[in-house]
Amino acid sequence: MARYVGPQCRLCRREGEKLFLKGIRCDTVKCAITKRKYPPGQSTWGRGKLSKYGIQFREKQKTKRFYGVLERQFRNYFRKAERQKGNTGDNLLVMLERRLDNVLCLALFAASRKSARQLILHGNITVNNKKVDIGSYLVKVGDVIKPKNTETILNIVKANMESLKGRNIPAWMEFKAEIPEVVVTQIPAREDISVSVHEQLIVELCSK
Ligand code: SF4
Repeated sequence: MARYVGPQCRLCRREGEKLFLKGIRCDTVKCAITKRKYPPGQSTWGRGKLSKYGIQFREKQKTKRFYGVLERQFRNYFRKAERQKGNTGDNLLVMLERRLDNVLCLALFAASRKSARQLILHGNITVNNKKVDIGSYLVKVGDVIKPKNTETILNIVKANMESLKGRNIPAWMEFKAEIPEVVVTQIPAREDISVSVHEQLIVELCSK
């Protein structure tokens, strides 16, 4: 019988690509998408032809799951993205990418966005030497992000960095492993963002 691996892994299998939602597990042979290409058992995910609405909805859900944000937060991001100059879809993804929990994950300080939020909520992360305990904090150019200088936290962060060292660090941040700290050197552009979503479909859905 197929072992239940949780909805997030099923989401990856349905999309047919790794979304890296389960931390270190995603880099191992235990990754559900590596083990099995198709949804398990009775699941109907991925079967049949989706309507246009279904395709748009899936893109939105994938983005929400990837960044770990709820519907209401997502709608707020979308409204802000609409008010900004430029392409709404790009603005939306760039804002999500700038979230502090996402940055910790990209900088290998945390294995997943969920564990990054735990670190932040417990007051273990500083930005420009000030504690920031809000996962949705949007980093800006010049921000210096560091783990709290205690043995326990440094050990956790260094263990994550060691386990995840095969992952690439984006070009919009400067990573200093020996401290450890990460400095935001530029605001990410759409091409710096790895999540493979069709943001225009989200814009069409959310603009209705
Ligand atoms: Fe599960 Fe991570 Fe593999 Fe996705 S990438 S299927 S979340 S283990």
